[in-house]
Amino acid sequence: MTNDVMPVLTDSAPQSRYVQVALDVPLEGPFDYACDEPVAVGARVIVTFGRRRMVGVVVTSDAKPSVGLTTIRSIERVLSDLPPLPESWVALSRFSAHYYQRPLGEVMLPALPVALRRLSHYEGKRSGDGPVAKWRGRKQKPQKPVTTQEKPPELNRAQLEAVQAVVNQRGFGAFLLHGITGSGKTQVYLSAAAAVLARGGRVLFLVPEINLTPQFAGALRRRLGHVVPPQGVAILHSGLSDGERLDAWLRTVEGGVQIVLGTRLAVFAPMPRIDLIVVDEEHDPSYKQQEGLRYSARDLAIWRAQQSKATIVLGSATPSLESWHKAKQGHYQLLSLPERATQASLPEVRLIDTRRLALNNGLAPVLIEAIEQTLSKGQQVLIYLNRRGYAPVMHCTSCGWVSSCEHCSVFSVLHRSNGNRLRLHCHHCGSQRPAPAACPSCGDQDLQPMGRGTQRLEEYLGELFPEARLARIDADSTRRKGSAQTLFDKVHAGEVDILIGTQMVSKGHDFENLGLVGVLNADAMLFSQDFRAPERLFAQLMQVTGRAGRHEQANATDEPGARAQVLIQTGYPEQPVYQALRAHNFSGFATALLKDREDTGLPPFAFQALLTAEASELPEAVGFLQSARNEANSWLAANDLSQQVTLYDAVPLRVVRVASVCRAQLLIESATRGDLHQLLRAWLPLLGTRHGTGRLRWQIEVDPLEI
Ligand SMILES: [Zn+2]
Ligand SMILES: [Zn+2]
Repeated sequence: MTNDVMPVLTDSAPQSRYVQVALDVPLEGPFDYACDEPVAVGARVIVTFGRRRMVGVVVTSDAKPSVGLTTIRSIERVLSDLPPLPESWVALSRFSAHYYQRPLGEVMLPALPVALRRLSHYEGKRSGDGPVAKWRGRKQKPQKPVTTQEKPPELNRAQLEAVQAVVNQRGFGAFLLHGITGSGKTQVYLSAAAAVLARGGRVLFLVPEINLTPQFAGALRRRLGHVVPPQGVAILHSGLSDGERLDAWLRTVEGGVQIVLGTRLAVFAPMPRIDLIVVDEEHDPSYKQQEGLRYSARDLAIWRAQQSKATIVLGSATPSLESWHKAKQGHYQLLSLPERATQASLPEVRLIDTRRLALNNGLAPVLIEAIEQTLSKGQQVLIYLNRRGYAPVMHCTSCGWVSSCEHCSVFSVLHRSNGNRLRLHCHHCGSQRPAPAACPSCGDQDLQPMGRGTQRLEEYLGELFPEARLARIDADSTRRKGSAQTLFDKVHAGEVDILIGTQMVSKGHDFENLGLVGVLNADAMLFSQDFRAPERLFAQLMQVTGRAGRHEQANATDEPGARAQVLIQTGYPEQPVYQALRAHNFSGFATALLKDREDTGLPPFAFQALLTAEASELPEAVGFLQSARNEANSWLAANDLSQQVTLYDAVPLRVVRVASVCRAQLLIESATRGDLHQLLRAWLPLLGTRHGTGRLRWQIEVDPLEI
C-alpha cells in the first residue's frame, strides 16, 4: 500500500487546540479554528473562510468546538507584528456586538485601521514586512515641544466647583455638566484634564463633528502642550486618510498617547487605560452611528468609563432628556454653569410672528432692519437656515409639475453649480441631473424655484447688502477637505460680515463679534411625527442662538438696547419650545417634556428597538415585518412576556422609497431594557440572515434616535 491511497489530512486534521475567530462576514460567528500553539485573545490571524482567505481576531483562546472536528480548519498564520489587541478593547467590542445585536466580527474588524485587517497588506509583492514594520521604520518628523503655556483663564465659582468635583472623583463616576452657551464648559474640561494628566492619567475627548476637532486640538495644544508633547495626542475621525488613521491608532495601542481626541468612532480608540472621558455636546445626534453597527458613542463611553473605573463628563447646554433624567434620578451628578464665563450676557431672543407679515424673499422687514443696524455697528450677522441648496423644489407655474427624484419618494432639490448652472440633486440617494429648461409635463418654459435654501438666501442677501462680505457654510460649500476650516477662519478673522449657514455653524464655534442671529424656517421641525422633534429643535435653536454675543465686544452692555439679538421667524410663537427659548429656560422645558414622556410611556421611561426592512416592493417589506411581528408575539406569549413588550404595526417610513428600495419599520417597546433584550436575542435569529432571502434585507436598531 502506498501513501497515495491514504486519506491526506490537511486542513481538517483534528488538533489539540481550538480557538474562536471573529471575521467580518454577515454571519453570526465567531468561527472555530484549530491551531498547534496557544493563541491569545486579541491576536490577529489569517484564516480561510469558505473560499476566501481573510484576517480575523481571536476572541476565545481555549474553545470547545461547536461543530464537528473534521470540518474545522487550521489557522494559517498568526500575525505577530502587534501584541494582541488590548483586553479592554476586545471587551468593548464584545459588549457593543451583544447590546446592539450585531455579529462580533462586524463590530471588531471595521473598527481596525484598514492596513491591519486587509490581507493584501500582508501578502503580495509590495507588502514587505507588513504595515506595522513599515510604520515603525518611517523617519519620524521631529516635532517641536510646546514650551509656552497659555495662561488658564480665571475660572468663576461654578466652573471651579465643577472642576473640583470631577478631579476629586476617584474610580467610576458620571457627571452631567449643564452649562448655558458661553459658560465656559471647555475651560472646565481642560482644567480637569490638566489635573488628570498631571497625575499620569489618560484622557479621551469626544466631540460631535469633525469640524470641531481642529479647534479643540488647538485649545489642547495651547493649554496642555507643555505637559503633553504633540506625539502624545492622537486624533481619530472618519476624515483621516488610511495612513493617518493607522498612525494615530498604533501610537494609541502602543501606549504612547495620553490624549485621544475624536468623533464618535474614537470611542473605540484602543487606549490601554483611560482615566477621564469627556463627551462634549452629549445630546448631539451625531454620536449615533446611523448605519452598520448603530451604536451611540455617548452610551458606549459611559460603559467604557464604568469598565475602566474612569470618570466621565457629559457636557451640554441642552442635555438629552435621557441624560437629564439620569441626573435627576441621581445616577449622574449634575454640575451647573448658570452664567456666561465672560461679562457677556445672554442674547435677547425675540420671536417674529410671520402670520401677519409680508415677507421679503422670506425675510421679515424687522429682520432686514436688524441686519442693517448690526452691520453698521461693525458686528457680524449669522442667518441660520437649515436647508441647503437653492430651493427645496422646482415647479411649473402652468401645470403644477414639481421636481422629484426618479429613485426616491422625495422632491429633488434645486442647486446652483459653480458655473451657475441649475441642477437637481436628490438629498437622499445623491443622484443629480441638469434642471430641465422646460416643463417635462406640459412643455411650458416658466419653471420656478419654490421656497428657498441657503444658496438662494445668499444670493438675495448679496443683492440687499452689496457692500457686505458674505460667506455660506453648509455641506455643499465645505465639501473639499479643509474648506470648512478656511471658511470658519475667515469668519474669526473678521473677513465676513454676514454668515449664512445650516446647523454646521451652530455647534461649538465661538464667534467673537456676532451681534445678531436670524433664524428662518424653524417651524419645519415643529410638527414632525418623531416624538423627539421638540427636544431636537430646542437644542438646535439654543445652540445657534448661543453663538450670539459670547464676548463683551458684541454686547456693549452699557449701551441700552445694544445687547446681542436673536430673531426667530415663526408662524407659531405661542409654541412652548419658542417660549422656553425666549426665556433661556432649558430646565423648565426639559421638565415639561419629561412629564409628557412619562405620561405617554416614551423614552427615557421606555426602551425601544426598531426593525427596518427593505425590499424592491413595499408589500414585501411590510409583509416580512408583519410575519416577524407574529413570530415575536408567539414567543412573548410562550414566555409570558406579552404584557411587558409591545410590538406596533409595521408601517412604511416617511420617505418610503430611497434609491429604488422601499422601506418599512416595526417599533418594539418595553418598560424594561431586560425584557426587550430578552426578546431580541431569542427572536432575531429566527428572522434569517440580515441580507435576507432574495432582495429583502433587514436590520435592527437598539435605542433608535429617529422614529
Ligand atoms: Zn408644466
Ligand atoms: Zn433619490
